[in-house]
Amino acid sequence: MTPAFLGLPESLRDRKGWGFAAQLYSVRSRQSWGVGDLADLAHLAAWSGKELGADFVLVNPLHAAEPSAPMEPSPYLPTSRRFFNPLYLRVEEVPEYTALSAAARAEVDRLAAKVHAALDGGDVVDRDTAWTAKRAALEILHSVPRSDEREAAFLASAEQLVRNYFLLEDPTQVRGNGLELMLGTDITVDVRSRDAAGQWTTTPHSLRLRGIIDRLDIDDDGEITVVDYKSGRAPSERFEQGRLSGVHFYAYLCERFLGKTPAKVQLLYLADPVIITATPSAQSIRGLGRRVEAIWSTVVQACEKESFRPNPGKLCAYCSYHAYCPAQGGSLDALVDAGAVARPVELVPRPGAGGDGEQVAAATEPSLFEAVGS
Ligand code: SF4
Repeated sequence: MTPAFLGLPESLRDRKGWGFAAQLYSVRSRQSWGVGDLADLAHLAAWSGKELGADFVLVNPLHAAEPSAPMEPSPYLPTSRRFFNPLYLRVEEVPEYTALSAAARAEVDRLAAKVHAALDGGDVVDRDTAWTAKRAALEILHSVPRSDEREAAFLASAEQLVRNYFLLEDPTQVRGNGLELMLGTDITVDVRSRDAAGQWTTTPHSLRLRGIIDRLDIDDDGEITVVDYKSGRAPSERFEQGRLSGVHFYAYLCERFLGKTPAKVQLLYLADPVIITATPSAQSIRGLGRRVEAIWSTVVQACEKESFRPNPGKLCAYCSYHAYCPAQGGSLDALVDAGAVARPVELVPRPGAGGDGEQVAAATEPSLFEAVGS
């Protein structure tokens, strides 16, 4: 992801400037919880600008690492580029801190004192100790309701999104034939596998796909438009295609369920505001269908062989199954012995092509499906 502008700011256009380059986690003060935080950054910027005449402070990337220990130490290997690392929050400067009850504040202060005792004066930046305490404190702050001021700011941001929506569409001209429309469809996949005698056999297996479409419009000519609302910003051109890949799933569901390919899929990005439109093609829907079949075939074969290879990655940090995962040195045996794991996994083959669409639930006008058929 690249910003729209990478030039020098106006104040440095005609002269040279200087400033500090700092790895923020190492800019520690007596108040920070063992790791330099945003309050330390504010002090560094104010002090260096006011006292020394510095023009800028350059810091390491502040994007989010795993929210649980062990936290990735390198700021250049974030788990998310969308969110900032909450490790850099100064707990006492979160507005809700002042609204804590005496008992809750005492608990937060106890956590702070414990961290200061363990980490102050140490030479090593111990993110895990700092984050374990800070996370517990932030959870206490999270239980405090928003103040009137914060609530007003939240409502103002919501209002802005609604105002932006009106810039994109005239709702009196919109024909939302289906809202929060849940579609489901059965498909049958022929799975090839070896039997006990080593012979290849093909067996049909069925699965049900479900999806929820924000809004489905049908015009006078019976053409379908799938509309999806996004509260965030539109992706840059470089990432647009990746973001649009999900829309082909909507198109696939519509074709399976309604028997008709949508003329277009529209993503309404309310923060910008902007509409991105994709036109599903027979080829893109066919490709999606093949991917679904390939994935289901892999799942069936894995169930038959009881072969579920772990696929370790950054998301392992969020996973609660380390005790049972071979990649983490765990084992399923204890669970199986205790009868907590049902095995074998039962997948019932269904003969015949099948694939009839089925409406799972829909808040739709009764005329929806007549309209499509006409
Ligand atoms: S099951 Fe294992 S490999 Fe998969 S996410 Fe969890 S820890 Fe990682």
